[in-house]
Amino acid sequence: MKSIVSLLAVSLLCSLSADAAEKLKALIVDGQNNHAVWPKSTVMMKQYLEKSGLFDVEVARTRFISNFQREKDWLPLAGAPEAEGKDKPVPDPSFSPDFTKYHIVVSNFGYGAADWPEQTRKNLEDYMKKGGGLVAVHAANNSWANWPEFNKMIGLGGWGGRNQKSGPYVYFDANGKVVRDDGPGGCGSHGPQQEFVITMRDKTHPITKGLPDFWMHSKDECYSKLRGPAENMTILATAADTPELKNAGRNEPMLMVLSYGKGRVFHTTLGHDTEAFQGVGFIVTFLRGSEWAATGKVTQEIPKDFPAADKASARHFEHKK
Ligand code: ZN
Repeated sequence: MKSIVSLLAVSLLCSLSADAAEKLKALIVDGQNNHAVWPKSTVMMKQYLEKSGLFDVEVARTRFISNFQREKDWLPLAGAPEAEGKDKPVPDPSFSPDFTKYHIVVSNFGYGAADWPEQTRKNLEDYMKKGGGLVAVHAANNSWANWPEFNKMIGLGGWGGRNQKSGPYVYFDANGKVVRDDGPGGCGSHGPQQEFVITMRDKTHPITKGLPDFWMHSKDECYSKLRGPAENMTILATAADTPELKNAGRNEPMLMVLSYGKGRVFHTTLGHDTEAFQGVGFIVTFLRGSEWAATGKVTQEIPKDFPAADKASARHFEHKK
């Protein structure tokens, strides 16, 4: 009897550890973003990751938060520690998540975010060099022009004082050739928010394998004229939503993957406001990109409601426990 009990105990322990091992761990970092949607978009991304069945998600928030008023009702739903509102982004010397506990770090920081403490920056660099995963969403590429290693991770960034010294513009020309333009000029632009077509440029990658060649993205800002070191970077998808970009033959990066040390980075420029985060194209590429950044593989099926070339597709977001 004793041996049966111990056998049961062993098998129970095994199944517990198997369950624990099945889920990947994600950390969303947020607190300072010029995009008023951020308290809500953190909850949206957290729920997308959790409902995929692949991830457990925690949120690390700066103690001092800015631009939270419009969506303040969403703040507690993220499960982050309570924070103190400020009129503008203020450095938080105590912000020091243990990145090493997670398979991916998702940045929901944005334009003007205050600098992280030096040690926290170093910790992210070390985590990535040793094989961590980073997911940068939309305005995450606006933050920290003054942090060279972060700019190597994201490849391209916009605004925040970036200029010719930040690195080349990188885009696909009208012939489908990648252009790296070191010429002078500002950094970061977008047209009016609208639906626009995403063109896939590399469908051999696990993130994009099986996706349609063209798909209509929900109402969003189409970022353009980003600059950065763009090392070890592959552009998976582009878009050109304004007559100016189309006439210039500039197809701007929308989805990118990079390696940084042994780490993997998925960078999506999509995700300005609620409509964009509800777009099925955003949701699916975000989830596939997150899984790839965590494991190097993608196991998810492409859902039936994925957008078509001429028709966007959205899922109205409701918070579910
Ligand atoms: Zn935006």
